[in-house]
Amino acid sequence: MSPSQASRNESSSTRRARLQKLREAVLHRKVLARRLPASINGRWTRRHWAHASLFATLGALVAAIVPGFSAHSEPGIAPATARTTLALALPSLPLAQLRGHPGDSWQLVTVQSGQTLAALFKQLDIPAATLHRLLAQPGARESLARLKPGTVLGFDLPVGADGQSALRTLRFDRDPTHRVELSLQGDAVQEHVIERPTEVRTVVLSGQVGRSLYRSARKLGLSAKAIDTLTDEIFKYDIDFNDDVGANDRFSVVVDQTWRDGELVATGPVQAATFTVNGKLYSGFRFERNGKAEYFTGDGRPLKRSFIRMPIPYARLTSTFGNRYHPILGRMRMHEGVDFAASTGTPIQAAGDARVQFVGWKGGYGRVVILDHGHGYTTLYGHMSRFGSEHVGQRIAQGTVIGYVGMTGLATGPHLHYEFRVNGVHRNPLSITMPPPEPLSGVALAQFRAQTGTALAKIRRVEDVIYADAAPAPVKGRKKA
Ligand SMILES: [Zn+2]
Repeated sequence: MSPSQASRNESSSTRRARLQKLREAVLHRKVLARRLPASINGRWTRRHWAHASLFATLGALVAAIVPGFSAHSEPGIAPATARTTLALALPSLPLAQLRGHPGDSWQLVTVQSGQTLAALFKQLDIPAATLHRLLAQPGARESLARLKPGTVLGFDLPVGADGQSALRTLRFDRDPTHRVELSLQGDAVQEHVIERPTEVRTVVLSGQVGRSLYRSARKLGLSAKAIDTLTDEIFKYDIDFNDDVGANDRFSVVVDQTWRDGELVATGPVQAATFTVNGKLYSGFRFERNGKAEYFTGDGRPLKRSFIRMPIPYARLTSTFGNRYHPILGRMRMHEGVDFAASTGTPIQAAGDARVQFVGWKGGYGRVVILDHGHGYTTLYGHMSRFGSEHVGQRIAQGTVIGYVGMTGLATGPHLHYEFRVNGVHRNPLSITMPPPEPLSGVALAQFRAQTGTALAKIRRVEDVIYADAAPAPVKGRKKA
């Protein structure tokens, strides 16, 4: 390297360092500028003044060298812009503290579950009167009352001339896209709402089951709720997640993610999902029918069955449908339903989507609920110890807890007596062929096809990249086991 080259390099790196210093100086100057109102009441040391004049000079210099900064170094800047800058600079405050900048006064406090605002303010030694002033601000009470545990509140608590700290500004995120600043100025409270731009991206998350589906999926960024959707809604009828699924089986999920400042702030529901088990591909797609979201197979048939076989999952069948000796009545009698033994208090689920027809007491049934599923289908649930929160006429979804196992009425022990009627005739719920749920048709089916086509193409593109050297794509044909 020639000496002239070396000196050129040196000079460019020196210039870079100088520029960096200037940028930092501008940053400090901004921090300083926002501190001016509190610091001006006679607490400025000689060092403050020295810094201030130095920053002013540097500010003018930077304005000349870096045009991008000139707007910020203008002293006559609009206050709204200055506050915007401050709000977005929040993450860098700890850095400013590291640099030993005097008097940084922001404290971040995370709302704990069950913690009241009053308790939070007390913790920071802020008078209750201050809280009441903030709450009196129109709109503030509503958004502050809705703060969820985990929300971070920013308190600007500068130390005043009397050596006591007082709240100057309270800051919090009202929702993923709005940050609120409440500033106390004398007796007045000024609210400033800052829009925080977000971006929604449709992504395909794809992974292998590995040692735990849950862990693998969580690592990819799927929420616990989305994983539940996969196992309990979309694939529960086709895949036995306890026994069928192996470490090399893979899944792909299409979701909408909301991003803000490089952080994932929200994930929407599962739009589409595929699961490849032992080389066989299963898929499910979300579609809104009559304003209600459901999951469908690729050809538009609902994944949800119209009825679940047992209103209590995993219960033990103790009495079958048909003629039997009734232990309490002491004679042979037609058993018009089936009995499931379960301990008192076990939740009972609605077998299908329904309208509540009856909730109350009926002789030997004790506490009983009757549901009307339409098309002539009704179900009855007897001997309940107590009811759910449903009322007559209400529409409820399959799986809704409508009551709890008990032994009210004619019962020798806690169990559920379950009846299934078709056009008023008792049928055996364990052997009757359940009506298939209505598939999509007409315009809805056409819309559905367009949506699923796009989603599947996305999944295939991603899987082709990720699993390029894995076994041939299962969609091309079923592999023999
Ligand atoms: Zn019974």
